[in-house]
Amino acid sequence: MLLTIATMHRPATDLGFLLHKNPARAQTFDLAFGKAHVFYPEASEERCEAALLLDVDPVGLVRGSGGNRRGVLTEYISDRPYVASSFLSVAIARVFGSALGGRSKERPELAATPLPLVATVAALPCRGGEAAVRRLFEPLGYGVRVEPSAGETGGGEQAVPSRYRNVSLEARLPLRDLLAHLYVLIPVLDNDKHYWVGEAEVEKLIARGGDWLAAHPERNFITRRYLKRQPRLATEALRRLADEEGGDAVDAEAAPGRDREQALEAPARLNDQRMDAVVAALRAAGAADVLDLGCGEGRLIKALLPHAQFARIVGVDASVRTLEIAARRLKLARSPDAERGRVTLLHGALTYRDRRLEGFGAAALVEVIEHLEPGRLRALEHALFRFAKPKTVVVTTPNREYNVLFPGLPADRPRHPDHRFEWTRAEFAAWAGGVAEAWNYTVAYQAVGEADATHGPPTQMAVFSRCA
Ligand code: SAH
Repeated sequence: MLLTIATMHRPATDLGFLLHKNPARAQTFDLAFGKAHVFYPEASEERCEAALLLDVDPVGLVRGSGGNRRGVLTEYISDRPYVASSFLSVAIARVFGSALGGRSKERPELAATPLPLVATVAALPCRGGEAAVRRLFEPLGYGVRVEPSAGETGGGEQAVPSRYRNVSLEARLPLRDLLAHLYVLIPVLDNDKHYWVGEAEVEKLIARGGDWLAAHPERNFITRRYLKRQPRLATEALRRLADEEGGDAVDAEAAPGRDREQALEAPARLNDQRMDAVVAALRAAGAADVLDLGCGEGRLIKALLPHAQFARIVGVDASVRTLEIAARRLKLARSPDAERGRVTLLHGALTYRDRRLEGFGAAALVEVIEHLEPGRLRALEHALFRFAKPKTVVVTTPNREYNVLFPGLPADRPRHPDHRFEWTRAEFAAWAGGVAEAWNYTVAYQAVGEADATHGPPTQMAVFSRCA
């Protein structure tokens, strides 16, 4: 079993500090089922690569030592010693525990910083083939390369059968996230565990998966596979993940707070003004196909439909309940627009790369970004501006400066209890300007609603245009 992790971050040898393993020294760790070796095939300022080689003792396993009480292995001749499996996850936790926990004594700031990383996993069992690997890793932002394992062409007694693949995963993300993804997803691909799956596994899954798994499009599949022999545990884990995702604003639209927000803004009929402004911006951009990201109950979609210019409208939301409401309100079941494929609703998370969202003329995020944890905004930026890359992006969000003018809204309270932040005009411009610069867009700002001389408009809007 072999896992390598490489970086071209400068200085690349920082990887040693993050993994808490000195690049100059090979180390060996005794595990219940064999030995783990850590060494660095390359350690220069430009590129540093760490390798975790797992040497599983098949004889010990078959004798039932090493905690293999259930006797998963019944034969000496087994794939277990050679393929990436739950043994590798255990080794990652044991050998790279601090890095997995995001701790680094020497480089604390780097532990949370996205770095250019490439991981390779040899002989990953891929039931479901290459597609299965892609379904699991691509939504997390990885570039995935899949090659047949050596055994496929080799033959002979030690040949690795053809369902194994060598997989290379490339992404810019914190090392702890990469390790957590591998820790959870390797056993999922293997669809096996060398130890009994009990309550503790739910805790591990929530601890390692929490924020990214809650919003992963394949979270049901991942959770069931991870907790494979225990459907009851899977149900419990999924419920807890759904709670976590509440943090990502699931069902925010249907929550009571939404009424408060609308009541608050009602005098200005702000909602209508906002939709009008967004429709006008999308028309001016000349977009034919539009993504409504965080579409909620489909208000924008409804406003777009009368305009023939918009030949294809796709609404995306993380909340299934809200999408059901949208489908009802838009009468999609009986709508010729839906039949012709002019309107589609997709369940998805905006903080993960999603190929279904690539190649659009425009995207709108109407009152959505403020529902994200500030720490997740970066993930949305990548998914949207780096990968989906629509020509035009229209973003609206409350202008916090205006809040003092809402009667009945206590000072320093957001308009909606689910808003994770509300920005001043300067804060919004700082964010939007940074995003535009990072991803090669220009940005223009527009006021929405009646502007106050001092406090500005109730809603602020940014229109991003992709350069070239
Ligand atoms: N754009 C709509 C709804 C705004 S409320 C309107 O103006 O009427 C915010 C919406 O964003 C909610 O429906 C919520 O479910 C959705 N949302 C929040 N975080 C999300 C995420 N990470 N991925 C997908 N949708 C998300």
